[in-house]
Amino acid sequence: MITGGCLCGAVKYRLMGPLGDIVHCHCETCRKTHSSAFSSVAAVADTDFQLLEGAGKLSHFESSPGKLRWFCQSCSSHIYAKREGAAHVILRLGSLDNDSLNAGNTPRERSHIWTSQQAGWYQNDTELPVYDEAEPVAGR
Ligand SMILES: [Zn+2]
Ligand SMILES: [Zn+2]
Repeated sequence: MITGGCLCGAVKYRLMGPLGDIVHCHCETCRKTHSSAFSSVAAVADTDFQLLEGAGKLSHFESSPGKLRWFCQSCSSHIYAKREGAAHVILRLGSLDNDSLNAGNTPRERSHIWTSQQAGWYQNDTELPVYDEAEPVAGR
């Protein structure tokens, strides 16, 4: 079973179902939020996302209308984002526990998105598909 949590250990979760494909988002909002080149994310159904510990430690920031980014108040690790009305959370994959991943449950990397806003210092040498903005499919 895939598990994850924040840096300080206050927030822990597990996934009761599969993760969607991995997308690396280079939009300015993700860059600033994570203070990194991009944010690696995947969707997981609300019903498959189970918070085990630290619900009271989570705080959120509304980065765009109706989209909340949830993070640990103690260590500031970002755990997931959620759009109002969506039936899934957008999990921040840096929070996954590596030792809970195996050949059978590890999602695949799908693409880099919003590279029109990528960091000026970043050299994208990926072999994955690259999109200037969102992927031309719904669901993100
Ligand atoms: Zn924490
Ligand atoms: Zn983004």
